[in-house]
Amino acid sequence: MPQIYAYRCTRCDLALRSGWGGSMYVLDDTGQRVICPHPGEYFVAGLVLGFSRDEAAAAHLHVDLVKKWWWSPRKRREFEERVKLLISHTGFLTDMVCCDCQSEFSIDLTRDVRECPTCHSTNVFSVTKMPGKQCPACKLGEIIEIDTGMVS
Ligand SMILES: [Zn+2]
Ligand SMILES: [Zn+2]
Repeated sequence: MPQIYAYRCTRCDLALRSGWGGSMYVLDDTGQRVICPHPGEYFVAGLVLGFSRDEAAAAHLHVDLVKKWWWSPRKRREFEERVKLLISHTGFLTDMVCCDCQSEFSIDLTRDVRECPTCHSTNVFSVTKMPGKQCPACKLGEIIEIDTGMVS
């Protein structure tokens, strides 16, 4: 259960999106990225990819353990194929902030170009890396992390 943090400036009212850094996504059959909310992200991803509810539940609980577990060799092979599909079609969108125009956006750091979609600046950082950095809005304060006391 990750903690939820908020990020704000010590001097101005800049507040960055709180969360736990990003969210998982799955590619649907048209190539669109569908956000998979936490908890249950692999379950949602499985359903988007056409798994039965049982398979999606199994994928969510056993995505790392699947090699040890299934009831028939044929079923198990099919399920392993599905899990490979699941792994190749999912990724993680990291919440980012642009230090030039202060827009917030989410990108897959392993697949996307690391730049701001609004102003094309490459002066962009993961929101969770902002604490201790100069505020991109007022350039006077510092970004601090606040524990919201919530977990997701
Ligand atoms: Zn500020
Ligand atoms: Zn920008």
